[in-house]
Amino acid sequence: MQTQPKKAGRGNGCPLYKKCGGCQLQNMTYAEQLSFKQAKCIRHLKRFGHVEEILGMAEPFRYRNKVQAAFGTTRGGKIISGVYQSSSHNIVCVDNCMLEDETADRIIVTIRALLQKHRLRPFDEDRGTGFLRHVLVRRGFQTNEVMVVLVTPTALFPGKKEFLKDLLTLHPEITTVIQSVNGAKTSLVLGRQELVLFGKGYIEDILCGRRFRISARSFYQINPVQTEVLYGKAMEFAALTGKETVLDAYCGIGTIGLVAAERAGQVVGVELNADAVRDAKINAKLNNAGNARFYCADAGRFMTEAAQAGERADVVFMDPPRAGSDLPFLRALVTLAPKKIVYISCNVETQARDLGFLCKHGYRVGRIQPVDMFPHTGHVETVCLLTHS
Ligand code: SAH
Repeated sequence: MQTQPKKAGRGNGCPLYKKCGGCQLQNMTYAEQLSFKQAKCIRHLKRFGHVEEILGMAEPFRYRNKVQAAFGTTRGGKIISGVYQSSSHNIVCVDNCMLEDETADRIIVTIRALLQKHRLRPFDEDRGTGFLRHVLVRRGFQTNEVMVVLVTPTALFPGKKEFLKDLLTLHPEITTVIQSVNGAKTSLVLGRQELVLFGKGYIEDILCGRRFRISARSFYQINPVQTEVLYGKAMEFAALTGKETVLDAYCGIGTIGLVAAERAGQVVGVELNADAVRDAKINAKLNNAGNARFYCADAGRFMTEAAQAGERADVVFMDPPRAGSDLPFLRALVTLAPKKIVYISCNVETQARDLGFLCKHGYRVGRIQPVDMFPHTGHVETVCLLTHS
């Protein structure tokens, strides 16, 4: 979306609506979008029980704290940056999107101009020439810390000092700049190698009253306002008393586990991404959560080993990626047999499949709560409570 909407009404007049494809539901009013998502959840989850009313946003714009832009060149040689048109490699040039953080959008437009000024070119995948592939900007909405990640095919950065000087003069709000080296032909945006060009190399943000360190490659929820709503529901469902052993599976930088830690006996988190686990361990210290430990492992493997070792958990929070959980995870989960499972999902289809498995193995679904984390898109998040029947 490019223009300022008067209200959260139908067709907010974004000139890129058809080209971009990011806002699949923009032809609906926000109220219609919420009904659409509610109906989707009911369709997939009603066999497990009553679906509570979706929790929407009061102000469903500018909610994205992370903005990613691909860089390219038009046939006429003009530098553009924005999103890939759905299922293509064509870049739709975006200056200002109503879903995205405004500061982040402005920084990306500045970088476009600075490339021109410093005679740097976007990377050309076919020819293998040029400098800049993507830019990622993340802002801590509570702390105002801003991370800029420049993704380049090699570690070379001609005229680095002058470029950085210009960028930081024009945007003094930037607190860290990272160069991420990604030379591979891949759909992954960030490479493994990171060079910190300015600042600490990470940002911090505050969520549910706790402070979290976020590295470039770590997952962090993109809508922090609704994340607090989502986690609030997850905690309500878990109803911790202070004694429980809690498992936070697919824990990212440890946010759910560390929100739970104050109300639990001990917390164990597991996550595949090593950078995120490093963040989670530091986040435990930042929040004085001496009762929280984090491990880097495949969640299915970790759970299987824990089940074989005869370990126990009272409450398991699970928040898998879109594909849902795999069978080793689910089998180990029913062996561990926690009294409560709080299942957070960004994909109702795979969640329904996994709930089906858990219900066949002694669980029943007690609560189903949709939360609108991604207004104007077709995505919906759900949090479900399962208990032993
Ligand atoms: N609970 C966190 C993160 C959820 S996103 C939060 O609310 O912020 C899902 C996370 O699962 C990502 O951090 C991803 O790196 C991780 N992940 C993906 N596959 C995994 C696997 N097989 N085992 C463990 N973690 C995995």
